[in-house]
Amino acid sequence: MHNHDYDANCLFCRIAKGEIPSRKVYEDEEVFAFHDINPAAPVHFLMVPKKHIASMAQVQAEDAPLLGRMMALAPRLALEQGCNPYPDGGFRIVVNTGAEGGQEVHHLHLHVMGGPRPWLKG
Ligand code: 5GP
Ligand code: ZN
Repeated sequence: MHNHDYDANCLFCRIAKGEIPSRKVYEDEEVFAFHDINPAAPVHFLMVPKKHIASMAQVQAEDAPLLGRMMALAPRLALEQGCNPYPDGGFRIVVNTGAEGGQEVHHLHLHVMGGPRPWLKG
């Protein structure tokens, strides 16, 4: 990972690097996943690229394989974290983007939410 991929002022860059503690779900060279600190569902974790991408609005064509890997990995992690199997179980993947999209942390992240209804939000 090159230096310009890391933003020292970014919360999720710091979490992905282990500088700020989190409850880790998964890690590889390019991806970090951790439990949301304020879960909206019985299972609620976040998946981030280790590379700093501010939001979906900044995604470039070169990021497509990385995002594809994250999407392909999400179902496996969802089951590992206790989401029930499809079709009676399942999960939601949400990517808030920009202020009107409800984004609060400006480092691209997938919310993966699941578990028995009702949930707190959404
Ligand atoms: P957004 O609104 O940007 O889509 O989602 C940001 C999410 O990050 C929220 O669900 C919030 O609970 C979570 N979050 C914010 N700060 C922290 C933190 O320091 N640690 C963890 N684990 N989650 C956080
Ligand atoms: Zn970042």
